Amino acid sequence: MQDSYRHKGLRRKLIESIQSKGIKDKAVLAAMNKLPRHFFMDKAFEEIAYQDKAFPIAAHQTISQPYTVAFQSEQLQIKPRMTVLEIGTGSGYQSAVLALMGARVYTIERQEELYQFANNMFKKLNLPQIRTYFRDGFNGLPEFAPFDRIIVTAGAAQIPDKLIRQLKIGGLMVVPVGEGVQTMMRITRISEKKVTCTALEEFRFVPFLKGTVSRK
Ligand code: SAH
Repeated sequence: MQDSYRHKGLRRKLIESIQSKGIKDKAVLAAMNKLPRHFFMDKAFEEIAYQDKAFPIAAHQTISQPYTVAFQSEQLQIKPRMTVLEIGTGSGYQSAVLALMGARVYTIERQEELYQFANNMFKKLNLPQIRTYFRDGFNGLPEFAPFDRIIVTAGAAQIPDKLIRQLKIGGLMVVPVGEGVQTMMRITRISEKKVTCTALEEFRFVPFLKGTVSRK
């Protein structure tokens, strides 16, 4: 794995383009400028890894578009040492961005192949602040709840109730909701039983599915 001057240059251009699309959080931009996105993708995509596009990864899933990663990361309002639960590890790129912003990340993936890839990548990149789990994200991680922040990176048919219960009072969750096209929802848990919900922009994610898939 090599991060060349060319990669760095392409990455800087990508960050400028994300900024021009409205992302302001300096910590998000700095983390994304530091992290080699091409490490999280197949070698075949190395030349195009710094386009602002989603690309295929293993198990018929995708690495989210950089703008989407930046948007969700900004909406989370991360402060150092916050605990973040992520549903949908995928390539591991989003988890690594949050880790570089100072978060302690717990990430869950239902595809064993992706779980293993990401887990190895976090070891190689020396990111022990990310813990990976091969599970069904519908259940969250009750043993480590409540979390300061929750991010769902797969399209949910409805707001996952079980996950709201794993959010701290005052905590934030960002989740794309809808079938086909998703509306990004920002949910704040304001008390034990009350939440407020804000609808943001529209995105397209792979679906949030039940159960786990073991490696063949
Ligand atoms: N955050 C990822 C995006 C990956 S795409 C990245 O940065 O690359 C969404 C991922 O969510 C897919 O890998 C998919 O397998 C996973 N997923 C879907 N439903 C899930 C569930 N119930 N539990 C855990 N992961 C799930």
